[in-house]
Amino acid sequence: KGEVDDCSCKIESLDSFNNLKIFPRLHSLLNKDYFRFFKVNLKRPCPFWGDDGRCALRDCHVDKCSEDQLPPGYKESKQEENKYTKEAQEQLHTDCKEQKELGGIDKTISSEDRESFKSWSKYDDAQDNFCELDDDNSADMEYVDLTLNPERYTGYKGESAWRIWRTIYQENCFKPDTPVPGYGPAEARGAEGKALQSGLDLMRSLKGMCLEKRVFFRMISGLHTSINVHLSAKNYLPAANGYGKGTWGPNVEEFQKRFDPETTNGEGPQRLKNLYFTYLVELRALAKAAPYLEQEDFFTGDEKEDNETRNAVKDLLKIIKSFPDQFDESRLFQGNNKEAQQLKEEFRKLFRNISVIMDCVGCDKCKLWGKTQTQGMGTALKILFSGDTMGPDSTVDAQQKKNFQLRRSEIVSLFNAFGRLSTSIKEVDVFRQLIKEKDST
Ligand code: FAD
Repeated sequence: KGEVDDCSCKIESLDSFNNLKIFPRLHSLLNKDYFRFFKVNLKRPCPFWGDDGRCALRDCHVDKCSEDQLPPGYKESKQEENKYTKEAQEQLHTDCKEQKELGGIDKTISSEDRESFKSWSKYDDAQDNFCELDDDNSADMEYVDLTLNPERYTGYKGESAWRIWRTIYQENCFKPDTPVPGYGPAEARGAEGKALQSGLDLMRSLKGMCLEKRVFFRMISGLHTSINVHLSAKNYLPAANGYGKGTWGPNVEEFQKRFDPETTNGEGPQRLKNLYFTYLVELRALAKAAPYLEQEDFFTGDEKEDNETRNAVKDLLKIIKSFPDQFDESRLFQGNNKEAQQLKEEFRKLFRNISVIMDCVGCDKCKLWGKTQTQGMGTALKILFSGDTMGPDSTVDAQQKKNFQLRRSEIVSLFNAFGRLSTSIKEVDVFRQLIKEKDST
């Protein structure tokens, strides 16, 4: 109930907007080939600590696509063509040609060449990125059909999962101005647990933080909420008589354990509000990128399918743009001063780290969705904070506009990440009803 913090938007109006207008459209769009097939590297080593070992849990397994399952445009021979959008390919082609003509950049580089290199490197999409993208050329990249590997309860928990959340909150979120005593999952307290400063502690310190730091924390907490809502909503429910196969469905106890004010020291509702906050940020990124996305060809090699996808995207974007209480990114990093720039750089650096931490997740299914969602969130941040490179009334020059490019993987992850948040909001509504029914009996 109430308003989403740091946004002037009522939870109730967001609920009905999402559940009635966005969710059904997004659900059908994400079943289209362009959005289903996600190319990802699940074998990238964790750079921060030794491998936790391959997860033996059955539900952590991810099914990869074989060549014959892929749409015609994504088969091996066609892949190079699709790495970048058409415009980006043209730009890269021109840039590479210029590079060759310059004879490459070496130690004897002249100042003119250096200028030229600087402008060339502007097109290197790593520069604006808020997340570390997988290398498209790695032999370990594989296509996964996201619809066949749904995000749900996997049984991944304990120290490996806590280490990820702890590293994110403790080492890769902005520090609160005043330190707060350690707090964490009961089982994790103890020698190491004492020093554990979980999301909860940060939540209590938010008041002392500036808007940018609060936004950062709320987005991470919103992602955490979304993951935990999904695992509660698609939980394994054993067969009632104890024999035979169980089913996947909502587990009210699991949800209440994580979000009920009584079992979470009052923090559950705040965690849920952060889900709505994250949703609003990604909604705004899609609205801002609409002029760019409306030009995209959503190529899969099947003309009819691609046409349907383009129309469905346009229809969805029209609804998204109509939402009145959009998140206002212009309130962040205000002023063209050094502090604002430094804060933005720090924000970018921390978020990039979080995207890399996803390579340390010890359950492949959780890693797949963790990577998809952090990459989608990173894409949203890139859209919001790359200047006004997309709006029709932009003051940014045409060249800069042309330079703004999204890779296919960024577009796919952005829509899927938003799809996860939209589904979570719908699932929270189902839990509300189930809890009401439970309480009335
Ligand atoms: P955790 O969720 O591990 O949380 C640890 C502590 O963080 C809590 O005690 C609390 O203090 C704090 N906290 C909890 N929620 C929030 C919040 N929203 N905001 C701020 N602070 C919070 N499990 C699955 O079954 N399926 C999945 O698909 C899945 N994907 C995952 C993806 C990633 C990237 C990670 C790191 C974990 C994933 N997990 C998944 C595991 C799951 O998120 C939990 O870690 C696990 O279920 C153990 O839960 P827990 O109750 O111990 O608390």
